[in-house]
Amino acid sequence: MDYQALIDEVYQEVSSMGLKGKVADYIPQLADIDPELFGLALVDLEGNIYGAGDYRKEFSIQSISKVHTLTMVMHVFKSKLWHRVNVEPSGNPFNSVAQLEYEKGIPRNPFINAGALVITDALVSKYENPEKDIIDFINDITGHKSVKVNELVHQSEIDHSDRNMALAHFLKAHNNFNNNIDRVLDVYTYACSLEMNCIDLARSFSFFANDGYCIFAKRRILSQSHNQRINSLMLTCGFYDESGEFAFRVGLPGKSGVGGGVAAVLPGKFSVAAFSPQLNEKGNSLKAMKALELLTTKLEFSLF
Ligand code: GLU
Repeated sequence: MDYQALIDEVYQEVSSMGLKGKVADYIPQLADIDPELFGLALVDLEGNIYGAGDYRKEFSIQSISKVHTLTMVMHVFKSKLWHRVNVEPSGNPFNSVAQLEYEKGIPRNPFINAGALVITDALVSKYENPEKDIIDFINDITGHKSVKVNELVHQSEIDHSDRNMALAHFLKAHNNFNNNIDRVLDVYTYACSLEMNCIDLARSFSFFANDGYCIFAKRRILSQSHNQRINSLMLTCGFYDESGEFAFRVGLPGKSGVGGGVAAVLPGKFSVAAFSPQLNEKGNSLKAMKALELLTTKLEFSLF
């Protein structure tokens, strides 16, 4: 398979479609981005990189970091974590407060905000210095210094975290929260404010395509079974209330963020990341989703 030709073809086709969406504007720092940016990168399991467009440009990975933080607590909590978070697609907006009340304080899955707050609470319980440990972990799985926090975005996320604060209080009211709420919110928003480019984001997802073994860190990150579980969760819950649509059109485990990024894997073959800040009404990047749809349509092999 000539991945570079494939990536170039997908990039050209998507660029010529004239897709128009809306850049996230819940904080000013995200609203300021150039809406025309668009790039994608694919990393195969030998570590070869294939890219097109703005694939070297750093962007806010936002909720894609929920996959990294979940990975960091998987081995610590083993099955215990799943008493605190369910594994069902939410079918609701990612920051829904109402759903958490119906579900009696057990979030539907770890990739909506309520679930990620439980995961971050678990992370704060287990790691001495969570901010540094998150950075160290991502640098480790990409094989080099690849991630940094945008302090302005971080501060702005904190200043606009009323809904997340409400979710954390709901969780606490249901005894599903163990640490200081401000501290957990600080770490949660820190993870949302990380910046990476498409190459490194794809590298950081490589082990999901490789049964949990990371070729860059040269070590196993997840057991095969934990790796399969996170891939299943990404396939069913990775795209807000558009997860079914993504599974239907693209058919890969993946995760999106409101910064316009999408990272996904084809197990046994490659990881891929795409980025373009214009979003559809569900909060997913229009061009990144379309790029992955075309990519899997043109491929000669599939997960299924
Ligand atoms: N920072 C956002 C929030 O917690 C999450 C963004 C996202 O879903 O990518 O509200």
